[in-house]
Amino acid sequence: AKRDGRATARFFETGMDACSQARRALEIDLRRALVLDQFELVYQPQMDLDSDRLVGCEALIRWHHPTRGTVSPAEFIPLAEEIGLIVPIGEWVLRTACREAARWPGDVTVAVNLSPAQFRSPALVGAVASALAAAGLAPGRLELEITEGLLLQESQANIDTLNALRALGPRIAMDDFGTGYASLSSLRAFPFDRIKIDRSFVSGPKAERDAMAVVRAIASLGATYGMTTIAEGVETPEQMRDIRSEGCTAVQGYHIGRPMPAAAIARLFADQADT
Ligand code: C2E
Ligand code: CA
Ligand code: CA
Ligand code: CA
Repeated sequence: AKRDGRATARFFETGMDACSQARRALEIDLRRALVLDQFELVYQPQMDLDSDRLVGCEALIRWHHPTRGTVSPAEFIPLAEEIGLIVPIGEWVLRTACREAARWPGDVTVAVNLSPAQFRSPALVGAVASALAAAGLAPGRLELEITEGLLLQESQANIDTLNALRALGPRIAMDDFGTGYASLSSLRAFPFDRIKIDRSFVSGPKAERDAMAVVRAIASLGATYGMTTIAEGVETPEQMRDIRSEGCTAVQGYHIGRPMPAAAIARLFADQADT
C-alpha cells in the first residue's frame, strides 16, 4: 500500500509538472506574439433594431500561432492578464481597431474590450487618447466595453478612470450584463452609455421562456437610466423577433453575422452605405 501511495504521489507531481510546463510554454509564445505580428482583429457586426441597419461592430482578438493554430482569447487573455501582457496587447487592439474604423463610412462604431488589469493600468487613458489621435477617429465612434465584475468595488479610482475615459469622448458599455453581482448598483454608480445583455439570456442553455422576461427587465432598466441596450448571442430569427419585441435597441450574434476579418466588415459597411 505504501508503494502504491508513492506511485500515486509521483504520478501526481509529474502531472503538475506537465501542466505548469505547458503553461510556461504558452507564456513564452505569448510574449513573442506581438513582435511576431501573430494577432489579428476580427469584427462582429451590430444591427440597430429601429432602422435595421448595421451601426457598428465589436473587435475580437485572434492569435494565429504557427503550430498551435488559432488560440481562443478565452484561453490566452486570462494568462495575458496574469503576466501583465494585457497592457501592450490591449494597446495594440486599441490602435488597430481605431485605425481600421477610421476607414469605414458614416458614423459606424467600433467596440473594444477592456480587461480588468488593463482598466486598472495608469497607462490606459493615455493609450485611448493616442489611439484615437493616431487614427484620426472621431472619439464618439469608439466604444469601450467593461465587464461588471470589474466594478464589484465601486472604488473612487474606478469612477475616476471611467470619467477620464468618458471625457475623451468614447461611449462606455457594460459587457456581459446580468452575469455578475454588481449589476444594479453599478448602473446607479457609473455613467454607462449602453448595456450589453449577456448571451446566456438570449441563446445560452438557460435561455428558456423566462430568460426573455430578464431581457425585457434589463431593456426597461436601461431606458430608465437613459442607456441603450444591445443583446448579444442572437443566433436565430426567432430570438431576434423576441428580442425586438422586448424593447432592446440593438442586436449582435451569429444571426446578424459572425466575427470576420477587417476587409470583410469594411466591405459590408461600404455596401450598406451605397444603398
Ligand atoms: P465577449 O466580449 O462576451 O465576446 C463575445 C463572444 O461571443 C465572442 O467570442 C464572440 O465570437 C461570441 N459570439 C458572438 N456571437 C455569438 C453567437 O451568436 N453565439 C455564440 N455562441 N457565441 C457568439 P470570442 O471572440 O471567442 O471572445 C471571447 C471573449 O474573449 C470575449 O467575450 C472577451 O471577453 C474576450 N476578448 C476577445 N477579444 C478581446 C480583446 O481584444 N481584449 C480583451 N481584453 N478581451 C477580449
Ligand atoms: Ca465584449
Ligand atoms: Ca459579452
Ligand atoms: Ca462574455
